[in-house]
Amino acid sequence: MTPASYQGPPSFAKALFLGEVHPGAVFPFPALPEGEQERVDALVEAGRDFLAETYDAREAEAQGRIDDRIFRGLGEIGLLGLYLPQAYGGQGLSQTAYCQVFEQFTAFDPTLSVVMGVHQSIGTKPIYLFGTDAQKERFLPDLAVGRRLAGFALTEPNAGSDAYHIESRAVAQADGSYVLNGEKRYIGNGSKDVLVTFARDDDGEHVALIVEGGMDGFEVGEAYDTLGLRANDLRHLTFHDVRVPPENVLGAPGDGFKIAMETLNSGRLSLGTGSVGAVRLMRDMAVEHTLSRHQFGQPLADFELVEAKIAWMEMMHYGFHAMAYLIAGLVDAGMPDYAVETAMVKVAGTELLWYAANRAFQLAGGKAYLRDEAYEKILRDIRVFPIFEGANDVMRMFVALSGLEPLGDELRELGDLGPGEPLQALGTLADYVGERVGRELAPGGFPWVDADFADAATVVARQVARLRHTGESVLREHGEDIKLRQHQLKRLAEAATDIFAQIATLSRISTTLREGAAKDHEHESRLAHVFCRRAAARVSHNFDLVDENDDSQIHAIARHVYEGHQV
Ligand SMILES: Cc1cc2nc3c(=O)[nH]c(=O)nc-3n(C[C@H](O)[C@H](O)[C@H](O)COP(=O)(O)OP(=O)(O)OC[C@H]3O[C@@H](n4cnc5c(N)ncnc54)[C@H](O)[C@@H]3O)c2cc1C
Repeated sequence: MTPASYQGPPSFAKALFLGEVHPGAVFPFPALPEGEQERVDALVEAGRDFLAETYDAREAEAQGRIDDRIFRGLGEIGLLGLYLPQAYGGQGLSQTAYCQVFEQFTAFDPTLSVVMGVHQSIGTKPIYLFGTDAQKERFLPDLAVGRRLAGFALTEPNAGSDAYHIESRAVAQADGSYVLNGEKRYIGNGSKDVLVTFARDDDGEHVALIVEGGMDGFEVGEAYDTLGLRANDLRHLTFHDVRVPPENVLGAPGDGFKIAMETLNSGRLSLGTGSVGAVRLMRDMAVEHTLSRHQFGQPLADFELVEAKIAWMEMMHYGFHAMAYLIAGLVDAGMPDYAVETAMVKVAGTELLWYAANRAFQLAGGKAYLRDEAYEKILRDIRVFPIFEGANDVMRMFVALSGLEPLGDELRELGDLGPGEPLQALGTLADYVGERVGRELAPGGFPWVDADFADAATVVARQVARLRHTGESVLREHGEDIKLRQHQLKRLAEAATDIFAQIATLSRISTTLREGAAKDHEHESRLAHVFCRRAAARVSHNFDLVDENDDSQIHAIARHVYEGHQV
């Protein structure tokens, strides 16, 4: 795929919920544009050389900060303006290339990659996406080279996951400026220079404002003492009558929430991809340890249950890496709506990394528990990944509800499919779905799939149809109340993610086999087969649980437990 070459539905993942696969949109597996791989490699190498000389992750952690000269050095190399256009002093890289760089730095040091990510993925991004030309010209050149650092200040004491209900107030003035009052908490790069923040005006509309360090009334609290990412500059911010001038207002009144959400949609891609990439490091650490450590007269690596953990990391990395880079490629190709896809990769990537790190930790045995070994820092650093940039369960709800929305609209258009008329509904639907599945999936779902993977492709094509049927049945059963049926939504979100990951895996392996590019076809084919088989089993399990589960018992147990705890 090349930029702006995308031909498919506005969101590939949302279309899956409608029972549609658009095979042409996801094949061949995306590759970097000509020459970009060399640029990525050169940037990563220059960054690693520089950091090897100047940066000690443990020392930064002990000091609770990353030295300014590190940022200056990274900026000079070009690592702080990766996706910004060259006109603003950036590198002009694609999203795919950006994610590749992040993958390398997450494995190098999670703290550094988070700080670089806060600056670029969520700090600078809203100015790049929504700023006026004048704002871009004023801010981006300094941000691109790290002369100034950016942050994103959304979270408040009473508005974390529920970011819509922020309480900070921005009162519009006659001259177009705003007077800002409120507080923000847990803000990365909080004591730095340029902070895009969010508040509501007198009409309750969300506004986005660029606050700059040193503005009157802008108070930066002490750095938080945190479990991991200790060198991330995490601050509490307070705004006392801060006058934000008109030239620092981002977008129009009412745009603020959209700006925040679109920024996060895009930020989740590099967090998810970086997390998947770091699984490689976990695998390598586990392999090196288990090959060299002997117990019971043999290397640990030779025990079946050790092999199981190593193979699991390798196989899961293969499938979810394919998913991450398929999504990055779709974004680069111009797929307009990627919010569901990036939420999927954020959840899958951050949880995969957590479980991989746990396995590596377990295999290292007692030494993993020691402070001077790498394992404990990695676990501490990455523990927050499933929490920030959208808590993972909240993201699961978002994936499922966003996926079901077009389906609900379509069902409404087809007639009243509410619970009052189930038979009529079923009749209408059966014809409609039959026609659609025939149209979209014949003659085998994915015409490009390598012959060796035809069975896997048939399985996933059937699962897409089942996703639609299941979506319809929960919508019919619960109507609007589906929002409250979180068990069911979680199952649908996970099924859709595993379906997407299988499609990505099939695209990747089929492209590889067709181009004859893989060094080790047998190994890669085996990874793809096992990944698809296991992902398909998870999908079936989730669908089965939609029909038969003990959700009401779980509810009763939790309520019983709550009864003993009055707050
Ligand atoms: C190290 C670190 C860096 C951060 N950096 C930034 C930053 O740069 N900028 C910024 O604005 N914020 C930042 N944050 C804040 C972060 O985004 C929030 O902590 C996160 O959004 C969760 O909000 P909360 O802590 O208020 O948790 P809550 O919203 O109270 O949620 C706690 C838990 O409750 C559950 N939960 C919540 N809602 C639901 C639901 N609807 N359904 C089911 N379960 C639910 C989830 O398990 C969730 O993890 C950072 C936080 C940390 C720890």
